[in-house]
Amino acid sequence: MNALKNDHFSSINPQLQQKLVRLGIRNELELILHLPIRYEDETRLYPIRDIPDGKTGQVEGVIIHCEVITRSRRQLVCQVKDASGILFIRFLHFYPSQVKTYSIGARVRVLGEARTGFFGAEMIHPKCRIVHEESPLSDTLTPVYPITAGVTQTTISKLIQQVLSKGHSREYMAETLPETLLKQYQLLGFRESISLLHQPPPDIAMGLLQSRTHPAWRRIKFDELLAQQLSMRMHYRQRRSYRAPALQEKNHLIHALLATLPFGLTVAQKKVLAEIKSDLSTTSPMQRLLQGDVGSGKTIVAALAALQAIENDYQVAVMAPTEILAEQHYQKFLSWFAPLGVTVAWLSGSQKKRQRDHELTQIAAGHAMLVVGTHALFQEQVQFFRLGLVIVDEQHRFGVHQRLALRQKGSEPNWLPHQLMMSATPIPRTLSMSYYADLDVSVIDQLPPGRSPVVTKLIDESRRSEVIARVREACQTGKQAYWVCPLIEESEALQLKTAVETYELLSQTFPDLKINLIHGRLHAQDKSAIMTAFSQGEVQLLVATTVIEVGVDVPNASLMVIEHAERMGLSQLHQLRGRIGRGSEAGICVLLYQKPLSQIARERLRIIFEHSDGFEIARRDLKLRGPGEFLGTRQSGLPMLRFADLQQDMDLLEAARAVAEILLRDYPEAAQQHLQRWLGEKNEYLRV
Ligand code: ADP
Ligand code: MG
Repeated sequence: MNALKNDHFSSINPQLQQKLVRLGIRNELELILHLPIRYEDETRLYPIRDIPDGKTGQVEGVIIHCEVITRSRRQLVCQVKDASGILFIRFLHFYPSQVKTYSIGARVRVLGEARTGFFGAEMIHPKCRIVHEESPLSDTLTPVYPITAGVTQTTISKLIQQVLSKGHSREYMAETLPETLLKQYQLLGFRESISLLHQPPPDIAMGLLQSRTHPAWRRIKFDELLAQQLSMRMHYRQRRSYRAPALQEKNHLIHALLATLPFGLTVAQKKVLAEIKSDLSTTSPMQRLLQGDVGSGKTIVAALAALQAIENDYQVAVMAPTEILAEQHYQKFLSWFAPLGVTVAWLSGSQKKRQRDHELTQIAAGHAMLVVGTHALFQEQVQFFRLGLVIVDEQHRFGVHQRLALRQKGSEPNWLPHQLMMSATPIPRTLSMSYYADLDVSVIDQLPPGRSPVVTKLIDESRRSEVIARVREACQTGKQAYWVCPLIEESEALQLKTAVETYELLSQTFPDLKINLIHGRLHAQDKSAIMTAFSQGEVQLLVATTVIEVGVDVPNASLMVIEHAERMGLSQLHQLRGRIGRGSEAGICVLLYQKPLSQIARERLRIIFEHSDGFEIARRDLKLRGPGEFLGTRQSGLPMLRFADLQQDMDLLEAARAVAEILLRDYPEAAQQHLQRWLGEKNEYLRV
């Protein structure tokens, strides 16, 4: 960026520079984008008597009393008097020098929140400084900036003011948006917005400024969202410029599979399948996210999509995040595909070398047309003969980079396989529009018919014996149940120990039941043997850690007990609960919790109790945790938003999306300039 030549930043002393970097400031541009968190009004004075209780304001007066008192703790208490009354100011932390400074007769300006204390109006820890009778008032609101150790408010304000005063000619202050778009979307100019936010005039509506709804704030948030949209859309376009095999709709294998199913597809499944089939038939690589609540039937859609590739003699890779789920997919695909004469291969990290070598040969030679596996799929030794489609289940469980690695397995340069990602963690529209804007999204928005909703019960740990009676009764009448052990985040070993103990205890409690234990540390073969036994009804009660959370599908299991539900996250609870109520039997999910409950745990339990729709739960989860945590560390290839708030600024997001399209189409240079300003080199790691 040209503007970085002669950057004022480089003239700052190196020690301070280092501290600024901690605030994310590495140049002038980043300095001016370091925007206030709030403002203080030092443009006027209140008479002491007139400051409303609970309001922040500035007063000026003379110190008439000052002493250090020791009540419950040492504190400095002064009295300030003006023509209208007396204000008490109180400092719980203070320097000896302050006692001297606030001597009787000193004139001070005090800014703080006024409250009615024991003696009358008081302020605790106000901003307080010595002034002269003639000291001018500030003529703009005072910005308060985010700071860090070693960088004071004064330092940062000064730096920003310096840059602002000479930065007007800088390129980074230039408008990036064409006039017509500014008008159409009623956006304030960029330079004007920046100046206003750093130096707001006294008559500005302080409320709009504080709530960040002032047009100046909206412009900055818009710009940030626009950069994000531009970047996503550019990657989308860039990927579209790669070529993929056109997988035509032949439909003979697809119809053959449909004919063997005991059910017909739902309208929603048909709709998304049509979208996928049409994507596959073009020479642009598909990038589609298939969303659907737990149990909405994504797997069969994936299988039918896979058949379209296979009908065109292209291979398909299906990747799942856990061995249990991958194994289950393998079994399911095998049962569907083997009768059609399609060879299915299986790859996992824990399989024996001989078997693995055999599978690898089958894959490389193009005999195996469908390959199911865990992340073992994208190791280097795995060579596909002709990979045409990659399906990633529970995609949010994989890091961005893992997903990309599998895509690189396309056979020729400039070729990419089609890609279908599936997610049962429903991503609220705001998030998918922002963080997944580079994907096309299909949504299965209905559940297969005949499902009865799961009844959720919240039960205090002290009523455990009732729960036990219930489990026994259910199992004796031919139903199956899960007993989910508590999550212990701090230690996997402890979690395992708890699971084993729970299993032993329950075995004693239910000597008459066939019961087994499954957890993450078991060998893959053992896990799969246990799951098979459970799905064939040979195990009545399955004690499990959260390994069963994703994808596991045993329709006859209709009861689930989750211990210490208060420790689990919302999406985890929703996923777990989604394991039951899959058959015709109404599901019951018992959430055992232990008091005392934290505020957030209480809120989570209330949400999961009141709602069964995954999208609604996700929306509330997002509200509770914010997008950073919601998306999780695994997605952390993505730059998070600093200013825009996806809840509050939905309309801006819609506008940014529209403007991004217009810029890319009609003003490519403006798009470039805008991206450069906002993302700079950060744009790099979003590349294909
Ligand atoms: P998810 O979307 O959570 O991955 P699955 O694909 O595991 O859901 O499907 C859940 C269950 O619903 C499976 O047992 C599956 O066979 C069944 N299923 C899928 N589609 C239908 C349908 N249209 N009608 C009836 N059952 C269906
Ligand atoms: Mg699934």
